[in-house]
Amino acid sequence: MPSYYLEVTDANDVKEAMQYSNCSGTRLSIKNSGHDYLTRSSGKGTLSLWTRKLQNLTYSPAFVPSGCQTSYKAITAGAGVNFDEAYEFAHQNNVTILGGYSPTVGLSGGWVMNGGHSVLSPVYGLGVDRVVQYKIVTPDGQLRIANECQNEDLFWALRGGGGGTFGVVLESSHRVEPTISFVAAIIKFTSNSTNVLPFMDIIVNNTVKWSQEGWGGHITGDTLVNVSPLLSVAEAEESLADVIAYAKAQGGSATVENFSSWYSFYEKYVTSSSVSVGVTHFAGSRLVPQSVFETAEGRADLMDFFKLLLANGQTPYIPVVGPVLYNYTEGSTSASPAWRQAIWELGSGSTWAWNSTLETREEKIATLQNMTATLERITPGSGAYSNEANAFTEDWREAWWGDNYDTLLSIKNKYDPTGMLSCWKCIGWEESQANSTCFVAFP
Ligand SMILES: Cc1cc2nc3c(=O)[nH]c(=O)nc-3n(C[C@H](O)[C@H](O)[C@H](O)COP(=O)(O)OP(=O)(O)OC[C@H]3O[C@@H](n4cnc5c(N)ncnc54)[C@H](O)[C@@H]3O)c2cc1C
Repeated sequence: MPSYYLEVTDANDVKEAMQYSNCSGTRLSIKNSGHDYLTRSSGKGTLSLWTRKLQNLTYSPAFVPSGCQTSYKAITAGAGVNFDEAYEFAHQNNVTILGGYSPTVGLSGGWVMNGGHSVLSPVYGLGVDRVVQYKIVTPDGQLRIANECQNEDLFWALRGGGGGTFGVVLESSHRVEPTISFVAAIIKFTSNSTNVLPFMDIIVNNTVKWSQEGWGGHITGDTLVNVSPLLSVAEAEESLADVIAYAKAQGGSATVENFSSWYSFYEKYVTSSSVSVGVTHFAGSRLVPQSVFETAEGRADLMDFFKLLLANGQTPYIPVVGPVLYNYTEGSTSASPAWRQAIWELGSGSTWAWNSTLETREEKIATLQNMTATLERITPGSGAYSNEANAFTEDWREAWWGDNYDTLLSIKNKYDPTGMLSCWKCIGWEESQANSTCFVAFP
């Protein structure tokens, strides 16, 4: 845990903290919501800069990034604004802002700087595709604006290179859409020892078709909650006919309904699915490209993976969030290039009770390592979303950033030459720094 917390209220607080860090040698960490699964918003003995109190929110129908010509409909949010606040503000202004499936994850921190997925990402892109400007204090104590027209290298790095690495972001501006209507399908049944795999089989065999129809959402072993802004209710029912019939045959239910705004869906389904506080959860996901679904071998590999999960007493967890239909400009962001081929993020996590023994923890992590290795074998050349990846991923530079890593490292060295900011497996991190974090290197 950090030794001290500083509640950041403006750029000067950050500048003074950086000066203090330079004089005293005290390391800094940056915390927004503290949701980071890899504990990157924490750090032993650090002075933590807590951004939650940066609460400014403005909407501009013609936002021009400083020094640029192009204008966008955009919301600018202070670095402490979370999705609950951002969604409500967007709703009040009759626009839609893309964000995560959680009220309490922050809009301007680790979510957007590492990629940022939404159930609307298949059509509208990732968080990194929609951010148009950051205000940031870099480790040399300079307040900078980063956008397409100034500090372009930093802007690129902040669109995928990760939080806690290049400086302290004070606010970010995001392109928004008008109020959108979309169809939502909520399908569920009670699982037993035999009915999960046939459900997954239908899903695996329909995934490419569904991806072309704009579907995004979450799938587990016995639920599917997906949305598409491209289909009517009748088209949606036809598209999902097999899976609806299967759930009903298991005594389950299927609701397909239209929503006239993101906010109404958010209030009905997202807030109610919030996870409980204080759970120890190790994520372990991998991005699954379209090519895996296109061969019989790839589909069989996925089914084998699900069998293995179930044998381990786990259930499948699939965010369907790949930006399949988004018109991406090649190279415009620094997030893993694997996102651009991905349809699924496929998860296998781990969890333990607070009082579990070291032996239990080691066993759980060993299983997680095994599952990650299996997923890597099924998806060669793909990557992972670091926010929800296995913290102990061995080849993390390649998995999380691919060919972008070396350029990100040179930008890190340009803006933070003394390495004032460092976090677990962030750009520039070395295994030798493991002892000053919450984890130890594993194995
Ligand atoms: C319940 C839950 C639901 C989630 N749902 C989604 C989802 O739907 N989609 C998705 O993509 N991800 C999701 N995630 C993952 C989420 O994106 C990551 O946990 C992310 O790191 C959270 O960012 P944060 O800024 O809120 O958290 P924090 O833990 O505070 O910060 C995360 C990282 O960003 C850095 N950081 C934070 N603020 C700043 C700043 N102002 N300047 C510089 N660096 C900063 C921190 O140092 C740290 O490295 C979810 C996580 C949880 C726990």
